[in-house]
Amino acid sequence: MTDLNPPPLRNDCFALPAGVNWTPVDEALVLLRDRLAPVTAVEEVAIGNALGRILAQDVAALRSNPPQANSAVDGYGFAGAISEGTHVLPLLQGRAAAGVPYAGVVPSGAAIRILTGAALPNGVDTVILEEDVNAQDGQIAFNGPLKQGANARKAGEDVVAGKIVLTLGRVLTPADLALLSAVGVSRVQVRKPLRVAVISTGDELVEPGQPAGVGQIFDANRPMLLAMARRFGAVTIDMGRIADDRAALRAALDSAAEQADVILTSGGASAGDEDHVSALLTEAGAMQEWRIAVKPGRPLALGMWQGAPVFGLPGNPVAAMVCTLVFARPAMALLAGAGWDDPQGFLLPAAFEKRKKPGRREYLRGRIREGRVEAFKSEGSGRISGLSWAEGLIEIQDGARHIQPGDPVRFIPFSSFGL
Ligand code: AMP
Ligand code: MG
Repeated sequence: MTDLNPPPLRNDCFALPAGVNWTPVDEALVLLRDRLAPVTAVEEVAIGNALGRILAQDVAALRSNPPQANSAVDGYGFAGAISEGTHVLPLLQGRAAAGVPYAGVVPSGAAIRILTGAALPNGVDTVILEEDVNAQDGQIAFNGPLKQGANARKAGEDVVAGKIVLTLGRVLTPADLALLSAVGVSRVQVRKPLRVAVISTGDELVEPGQPAGVGQIFDANRPMLLAMARRFGAVTIDMGRIADDRAALRAALDSAAEQADVILTSGGASAGDEDHVSALLTEAGAMQEWRIAVKPGRPLALGMWQGAPVFGLPGNPVAAMVCTLVFARPAMALLAGAGWDDPQGFLLPAAFEKRKKPGRREYLRGRIREGRVEAFKSEGSGRISGLSWAEGLIEIQDGARHIQPGDPVRFIPFSSFGL
């Protein structure tokens, strides 16, 4: 299984339904969900190295958790149930402790000292808290009633051996590593990280730290997109800034396709004179202009370059970020071998008013303060400060026209997008 590469994607995998003018966001997402499949190879890793990796197999418990019945408290064990009233039981010599079981059998009507996590000795199914007991001269006294099984954990009450505990496509969390350890799994088959190449395009772009003349701006998208891809669990390849020059961009795409599974470009994705990403994808016969009913987000250029899917993102940083979160993120997750994941948002009252055209989805930069969702003061798609101000996106449904303060709006924290 290791190093076996899945088949390549088809050249037309991004084709949108013909004749539709502005595709609704949800339709575009269904399309991505249906057409994309993992492109990464599989390898085996120790769970210590598996955080954030994507399972390439269902994983079954090798052992039950807990593996045997044990005590949930420090106290005294015996066979239940115990009726109402005062009870005195003889206390056996010895004890059962975590990792140091009591080897003997506890006869009916006798008790044994037992500590938290200790396997229940034979003859014990019930434990009483030490705080509820007087122990003296080889006897314990306590008051009932006590249910049979009290303060005891049953074998397999959490997980039974053989049960699937985590499924294919799971992105492993710290808690998952605890679960795998508990059920005796030390190595797992995972996907190799998706390799994502990032290219900025535009004659106006200058590297931060370099002198910038009139008409020039610093490349803001590339550091953002590289960082986002890394947060998504990808290995990134920084292809730098490429001028609005067809040959230079062709060479960059060639090199990116050789090194990466996915290519993210920003800028040059529309149909203008200097929109070389869309022009080159068109030349390659694998260009799909994605006109999605979404704001922000001018046309996206989706296509294939020498077997690598290309997400031609808009140049405007706000649109580039929103389009990456909404479209490229779930697409890259599928390509990476993870399951489809709708980002979890929640409805909270708006702290703002907004009017919009029905028939298109809008994403605002938002954050929660005092239980209400605030929107950034400007919707300008060049306002990078608002991206940094925001702690998530406000998703305004396609059909909405007028949001008033107090109306419920869907807030999706950046953490729900994996940032
Ligand atoms: P484009 O999509 O190439 O037409 O670019 C749209 C707008 O985004 C223009 O104002 C560009 O200057 C700006 N832009 C493009 N790429 C970047 C970038 N990497 N960083 C910051 N702004 C950019
Ligand atoms: Mg440009």
